[in-house]
Amino acid sequence: MGELVGVVGMTTIVWFRQDLRVADNPALTAAAAQGPVLPVFILDDDARPKRWRIGGAGRWWLHHSLQALQSRLPSLVLLQGDPGDVIAALAKRTNAAAVYWNRAYEPWAVEQEPLIAARLEAHGVEARSFGGSLLNEPEDLVSGKGQPYTVFSAYWRAARQRVVHDPLAPPTLSLLDTSGLGDRLDDWNLRPTQPNWASRWEKFWQPGEQGAEARLDAFVTDAIHGYAELRNRPDRAHTSRLSPHLHWGETTPRQILARIARAGIPNAPDVDKFLSEIGWREFAYHVLYHHPQFADQHWRKGFDAYPYRTDPDALRAWRQGRTGYPFVDAGMRQLWQTGWMHNRARMAAASFLVKHLRIDWRVGEAWFWDTLVDADLANNAMGWQWIAGSGTDAAPYFRIFNPVTQGQKFDPAGVYIRRWCPELAQLPDGDIHAPFDAPPTVLLAAGVELGVTYPWPIVAHKSARDAALAGFEAVKRANATQR
Ligand code: FAD
Repeated sequence: MGELVGVVGMTTIVWFRQDLRVADNPALTAAAAQGPVLPVFILDDDARPKRWRIGGAGRWWLHHSLQALQSRLPSLVLLQGDPGDVIAALAKRTNAAAVYWNRAYEPWAVEQEPLIAARLEAHGVEARSFGGSLLNEPEDLVSGKGQPYTVFSAYWRAARQRVVHDPLAPPTLSLLDTSGLGDRLDDWNLRPTQPNWASRWEKFWQPGEQGAEARLDAFVTDAIHGYAELRNRPDRAHTSRLSPHLHWGETTPRQILARIARAGIPNAPDVDKFLSEIGWREFAYHVLYHHPQFADQHWRKGFDAYPYRTDPDALRAWRQGRTGYPFVDAGMRQLWQTGWMHNRARMAAASFLVKHLRIDWRVGEAWFWDTLVDADLANNAMGWQWIAGSGTDAAPYFRIFNPVTQGQKFDPAGVYIRRWCPELAQLPDGDIHAPFDAPPTVLLAAGVELGVTYPWPIVAHKSARDAALAGFEAVKRANATQR
């Protein structure tokens, strides 16, 4: 670490985490009101459980998001290590008066915060944390029985009653000269090389606060119209794609609500449906905060008895988008090629892994963690446990998505499949969802040779469904004995 120029005893360190923005940033605004600000971001891989180190796609996003933040806050200092040690050392070295941060809700972050605060306070450094990533802090809402909520509808009914404050404007900052302090972003090697699988991602994404604002503007002026119905259609661009921006805190739910209110959108169901999706994010954080084991343990304990299988070949086919079910494969390839997958395809692909292949949802969760730019502990666990049937508001176990009819319903003309599985593009709409049932002449005319240009299904729907249902008998038995 180099020497810090111009430090005075009034400096407030702002520890950036999943709040990579300047506007509507309570910690930054409060620090700015105190005097000079020293912003720092700490790469904390070693302080996380190994399983939850930032995944490959997340690292790509983080690189670009930090670059964007540095262009707004040139004095942002980049450091690595255990946040407790790094912050204590930085506060001492800079003779800082205070350290402020916005809360994070992952179990390791929740454990860390009081320890860091105590350590700073023991040395006379003020420590303050703020809420800023959620509309409601996880402790703000409890059910009539004084317990955390476990059902979304009741949670969201209560949450919607509460006043949402206006977002904070970007503060005027007095920044210190930190040149020479900390690491160079490029030296963190957050972007992939050899191979650079993200080489085309800049076409899809603009990480950072400005990118989030542009995405929100585009959504509110256009795609939100029809959202309630069309959000389920991966062939239509009718969702916001704000998820990575929300995960990294480049925008906030408050800013989103304020922007929607300003737009005066006439169709209430579209707005309500969209807000309820933001509500699912709030609920997932609420659940994870109160039940940290939710990230990788069955919420419904009976599911511990489910006879999951290990099948490396099937898992590889699923990851590569080569299951022989075009709707599932399109989703998995969209994920690999862009770092994101439409929610409807996530549901179909996840259900296929857990129910058709009977592979443990945590295996799928780990793949999503590594490959999604929006990989988010709370939302990912909520999605996977919902699909597995083991979660809070989980889908009933006997609901097993049919990968063919899902495609027919939500991608009727096969637009999504043609985009991500181009080898099937010439098939007629009526055959594209199930090439294995298409007449040989149709396959020939479309240039599709099953087993050569596109795989045969790795499992048959009917027998896979029966086997999945049989597996649930073990869960039922376990539930009965636990009662
Ligand atoms: P929009 O429809 O525009 O929704 C707006 C915002 O609401 C999203 O950006 C997101 O923050 C939130 N949201 C929407 N749907 C959900 C949901 N079902 N649960 C929680 N929050 C939601 N979302 C993640 O952000 N990170 C994940 O790691 C993640 N993993 C998932 C895994 C599975 C198996 C499933 C089924 C869903 C997962 N989701 C995850 C939820 C959802 O698929 C994405 O949030 C959504 O597709 C993001 O696209 P969007 O921003 O266009 O969504």
